[in-house]
Amino acid sequence: MKDIKSLTFDELKTEVELMGEKSFRAGQIYSWMHEKLVTSFDDMSNIPAALKEKLKGEYSYTVLKPVRKQVSKVDGTVKYLFELPDGNRIETVSMDYHHGHSVCISSQVGCRMGCAFCASTLGGLVRNLTAAEMLEQIYGVTRDLDKRVDNIVIMGIGEPMDNYENVVRFIRMINSDKGLNLSVRNITLSTCGIVPGIKKLADEGLGITLALSLHAVNDEKRRKIMPVAKSYTIAQLMDAVDEYFEKTGRRVTFEYSLIAGVNDTDEDVKGLAALAGGKRSAHVNLIPVNPVTEAGLKEPDRAAVQRFLQKLTGMKVNATVRRELGRDIDGACGQLRRNDNNIM
Ligand code: SAH
Repeated sequence: MKDIKSLTFDELKTEVELMGEKSFRAGQIYSWMHEKLVTSFDDMSNIPAALKEKLKGEYSYTVLKPVRKQVSKVDGTVKYLFELPDGNRIETVSMDYHHGHSVCISSQVGCRMGCAFCASTLGGLVRNLTAAEMLEQIYGVTRDLDKRVDNIVIMGIGEPMDNYENVVRFIRMINSDKGLNLSVRNITLSTCGIVPGIKKLADEGLGITLALSLHAVNDEKRRKIMPVAKSYTIAQLMDAVDEYFEKTGRRVTFEYSLIAGVNDTDEDVKGLAALAGGKRSAHVNLIPVNPVTEAGLKEPDRAAVQRFLQKLTGMKVNATVRRELGRDIDGACGQLRRNDNNIM
């Protein structure tokens, strides 16, 4: 069955007309799903019963089931384990951050990128999420907390560029004035660096913020911790990033997870400054690597992180250390998993 919540407004309108219904019904149905965020056809009170039955016969209606909710005692970050209609599970994180309420969503069930420091990739990729399943993460959090989402970061489980079409569909739908109307300025997509995806995104006319997971400043080192680096060199990545800026006017953010003894030397600072500084003027987000038991990597101590930051800013690079929200509930970067053995 077709998933009604993954249809754009125009697609829904066409379908409704093909069913022989008046086209204004499409506006009503779309608004119930994407503005009022109801969880079933039965809740659509101004839709005639006969049409509701017809819709139930033709379409599935995706709703995610919250299986577990954890609240950080340290910073109030909330992590949800959601069950998808097929029984797979993914995680979503809600944080109160710099500019309001931010939600970090997953884009795939698992991930096939294999980064050495990340928990999300441990069991490989199961499948892509649909646009509805990405929307529902936002809707589920909004319903539960009764609080509007201000910012979305596509940085949870999965590589968004590996599910390109659905991710772009999701962005267009959440940005639509017929849905939650969230500005593209408040949406960030993070990628491990799939060059053709970055170039394609530059041409979408979307102007969302792009974050690049860099983590190493030379190809040899990068290949050791990120298998994707075997496919694309840093030089190719920088070309793509420059193209993204030229076409969208949006400067790219570089994410750099600091791992003790791996990428935290003076050479690394210099290399990072050379890549992020100058005309490119990328913002660098330093993330002391978050603990993932299986990875066994250590973060540098606090003082070492501060020294790295100071050296970088001393070289005129715009850099900050990311707050490690939700670490106590394994809700920080790289700690999300598609399954959990310790629930309920
Ligand atoms: N696949 C995308 C988005 C998901 S990861 C990407 O690679 O960008 C979101 C960010 O968290 C990425 O920058 C990722 O490299 C980083 N990350 C992964 N594991 C981490 C860990 N253990 N500690 C800190 N950051 C981590």
